[in-house]
Amino acid sequence: MKLDFSQLNKQTKQSFGDQQAIIKKVMQGKVVNCKECGQTLFLVPPEKSEQPGIACKKGCTHIHLDFV
Ligand SMILES: [Zn+2]
Repeated sequence: MKLDFSQLNKQTKQSFGDQQAIIKKVMQGKVVNCKECGQTLFLVPPEKSEQPGIACKKGCTHIHLDFV
């Protein structure tokens, strides 16, 4: 599985470095909380959603990832 990071910066307010750090941690199975609501961020696999990526339950964080 390869990830395309090229779209990240345009999609959210967070900086590219922040997003990469979050993605890395979530992929490693570490607990990362949403900056807005404090809920745990989780991986949305491509088979579960048309917009896979990293998200929180409330939806204030959604880092879109392109799974290739
Ligand atoms: Zn949130």
